Amino acid sequence: MLRVNELVKTFGGFKAVDGAHLHVAPGEVVAVIGPNGAGKTTLFHLITGQLVPDRGEILFKGKNIAGLPPHKVCRRGIARSYQVVNVFDRLTVLENVQIAVLARQSKTWNLFQTASRMCLEDTIRILQNVGLADKADRICANLSHGDRKVLEIAITLGSKPELIIMDEPTAGMSPEETAATLKLMQRLCRQMGLTLLFCEHDMEMVFSIADRIMVMQQGRTIIQDIPERVRADKRVREAYLGGADTCSA
Ligand code: ADP
Ligand code: MG
Repeated sequence: MLRVNELVKTFGGFKAVDGAHLHVAPGEVVAVIGPNGAGKTTLFHLITGQLVPDRGEILFKGKNIAGLPPHKVCRRGIARSYQVVNVFDRLTVLENVQIAVLARQSKTWNLFQTASRMCLEDTIRILQNVGLADKADRICANLSHGDRKVLEIAITLGSKPELIIMDEPTAGMSPEETAATLKLMQRLCRQMGLTLLFCEHDMEMVFSIADRIMVMQQGRTIIQDIPERVRADKRVREAYLGGADTCSA
């Protein structure tokens, strides 16, 4: 589904991404890990079109999308979940997800239907999938922090992405919320046939939910493999995980 080859991005002579490579198969959950400053966020920005690479290829379903603007990348089926998702506080849970579904289906709006009924089926299905159906009528300002995070995922799903990219989706969450959110993402990927590429600092979660892990250091890909082999890799231990204790977390 996604193949990144020899990607390079420099900022004033500094190589933030320096020949990184990555591949993601349909239905896979792939994590990118690496120390602060390794180039993870830059890599994601390059894939989603926020940044233009100096060199390299980004193939999505076989087509090179390197350098396309974000809205075009989004149309091709890549959704980026921002750390801050736009939730409209005064609208209900249902309305917030409905807006996302409508935004994607803008071309097929039926002018003879009242707005409140548009895309209702799709919207309700998403709410059921994420477990928010019983809170569909709640005003968002009154949601708990955890439910709000789940709503943000539901809004992302509203654009019917094939590939979801999340940069530290659990930043600022408690360990319990982190575990719940990542488990939910993993379940959604299985249920809805989604593909997920994410970056996350909770190693325990990464190793428990990722099908494959790519380790980045100084803009380069050290290894991309199944968790067991990444955990056992000597270079990874030396470069990042800092020894057997952290690795076995
Ligand atoms: P990570 O997400 O792995 O922590 P980043 O991709 O955010 O790493 O950053 C990689 C390196 O590139 C860092 O040294 C960072 O300071 C630098 N960098 C990122 N964005 C910019 C930018 N817009 N201008 C200059 N340097 C940047
Ligand atoms: Mg980052």
